[in-house]
This record gives sequence, structure tokens and C-alpha cells, in this order.
Amino acid sequence: MDKKRKISIIGSTGSIGTQALEVIEKLQDKFEIIALAGGNNAELLKEQAEKFKPKFIYAQKDIKIDGTKSLKNLDEIAENQENDIILVACSGKIGLKPTLKAIENGIDIALANKETLVMAGDIVMKKAKENGVKIIPVDSEHCAIHQCIKDISQVEKLIITASGGPFLHKSIEEIKTATVKEALAHPRWNMGRKITVDSATLMNKGLEIIEAHHLFGMDYDDIEVVIHPQSIVHSAIEYKDGSVIAQLGLPSMHIPIQYAISYPERFEGIKSKSFSFSEIARLDFEKPDFEKFPTVKLAYKAGRMGGSATACLNAANEEAVFEFLDGKINLYQIYEITKEIFDNHKVIQNPTIEEIFEVDEKTRLQTKELIKKITQK
Ligand code: MG
Repeated sequence: MDKKRKISIIGSTGSIGTQALEVIEKLQDKFEIIALAGGNNAELLKEQAEKFKPKFIYAQKDIKIDGTKSLKNLDEIAENQENDIILVACSGKIGLKPTLKAIENGIDIALANKETLVMAGDIVMKKAKENGVKIIPVDSEHCAIHQCIKDISQVEKLIITASGGPFLHKSIEEIKTATVKEALAHPRWNMGRKITVDSATLMNKGLEIIEAHHLFGMDYDDIEVVIHPQSIVHSAIEYKDGSVIAQLGLPSMHIPIQYAISYPERFEGIKSKSFSFSEIARLDFEKPDFEKFPTVKLAYKAGRMGGSATACLNAANEEAVFEFLDGKINLYQIYEITKEIFDNHKVIQNPTIEEIFEVDEKTRLQTKELIKKITQK
């Protein structure tokens, strides 16, 4: 990178967005921020804009910063050809449209937003290929795989690691009675609320399987999940000749974020301390318990069905997670409700983007209605 890489961040006030800005602050001579877009936290967005002085901001509320132009929508960021790369760090379906728009404009994407690929992976990856756009994963597991792969045609299988979340060795009964606070107390990673609950039910891993299928074009039969509580091995691949290559590192999202926005270069950036095998001493691995965490099986099923199935799964799960966070249902019911909605979904094969959004909306309504019915009993 001789000249500064021009970057915009969609979702700059969230967990990934704020950590990305920490990376960029450390690498000020490598990056120039074109635009920042934030959600509800207008105060923080204002602070960020004052500090990083982007050319543009997009806020849901009206905020004014001297020397920074306010944009009306996210498309204005996605259409701006000044960008070398856009970090899509927001959570939820809001990431999908600007990502597609940026791809159409030939802008590379650092993708932290899972929903984009879970909802519309076929469309997104096809468009990226047509437009010669790189989709560089930020999710730590996919970033690990991206770092391990040289030639995908020689890969036998992907091995995605999962920390197992806070309920790894708890009983189903304990999972059923888990409080929101317990579900949000992730042992290894500090993340947003939705993804932390998904990590507790292991649905996060389910969504990551679907994400991996699209990013790397691997069959679901060749994507494996293994529990690895220390979160040191971030994922691995097995080559056809039996060689296994894994990416290791201390559990910090700064590393995958920095890799994704700097790729193919590597910088020192934020590195808390040097890696020591002897300090870590041991790495444990075990098979996931699909009886206790059936969400993973459900995600495999949705992935194999393809079409609109994964968009339905994603929407039902997300609504159920919100209701859990709201205290309406218990943690295990997130799965039960998602499954019931999913089982009744009529899959549309090769859906258009409009059909995907229709499925998303319909599924959310159905999920809310079902939860209302259950909780009124
Ligand atoms: Mg992950």
C-alpha cells in the first residue's frame, strides 16, 4: 500500500465498527476514512466523526459536523467510487442492500455482516464474481480459513471451530432456565448482544456454516464444526493429501478486522503481545452435542435446502433472539420457535432479492405471532 487505502465503514458504532476504528487509528498512515455510518448511537457517531474527520457521515438522526457532509442513505456510500474498500460491520439485514450496491460499483468488501451471505449468498457471490469484487471475510473463523487457503480445489474440508459459548457443559434444563445475563456472559469474546445470544445457542455457528459454504464454495458435507473452548485455533482446513493448516492467534477481533481491511498486506497494528504456545499450554477439542445445541443441525438443513430457506431461518431466529432479550421466551425456545417457523416455510428456489426480503418480512411477522400465541397461554 503506497498510498492510503480509502475506506468507509457501515456500522461504525457497533462492536466491529469501533474496533475497526481502533485499528485505523493505529494505522493512520495506511488508511483514509471516506464515510462513517452509524445506527442509533448518534452521540458516538458524532464523536467518531469529530476525531476521524470522514468526508461523509450517515446517521439515522440529524447530526451536524463541521467539514463533514451528511448523507441521506447508505447507497450514497456504496456508490462512491472513491472507496477502495467498504467494511460492512452493521448487524442484521440492513447490510445486504448497500453490500450489493457496492459490489455493482466494483468496490471490494470487508464483510462482517453474516446476514448478507445467509440471506442472499448465491446472489451476492455471483455478483461479486461478475464484477471482479473481492469479498474478504471479517468473521474470525472465515478470516482464518481465508488465511489458510491457497488453492480451494485442493481442499478436502473446512474445519470451523466454536468456543461452545457459556452453556457448553450445562444441561438442557440449565439452558432452558438461563437468564439473559448468563446468555450474554460469553467466556471468550466480547461482541454485540444478538451475536452473543447466537453464540450461546450455537446458532452463530450454524450461520457461519452457511457463510462458509458461500464464501468458499464448499459443499455442506465438507464443512465440519468442532468445539474448541480456548478460541486459539480460529479454524482450519484439511487438504486432500491429509495436511491440515490452521490459523491460530489470541482471541481478539482486531486481528481479523485488520487482516480484512489490509489484505493482501499485513501490518503490525494492534498486537497486544506475542503468541506463546507454552503459555497457552493446551488446546482442547470435542465434538459438538447436537442434541443440546440442535440449532447447528437446523442450519445444515436450511443450507442444504438452499433458496429462501436460510433467509427464513435467519429471520425467525433473529426475531426469537429479540424476544428472548426482551424476557418473553427462554433460551431453548429460540430454537423451538425457529424450527416451527422454518418447518412451515415453503422454499423458493433461486429467489430474487425482492423475494428474499419478502420472505424475511413474512417470517418475522409469523415468528412474532407465534411467540405472542405461546406467551399468552
Ligand atoms: Mg465467528
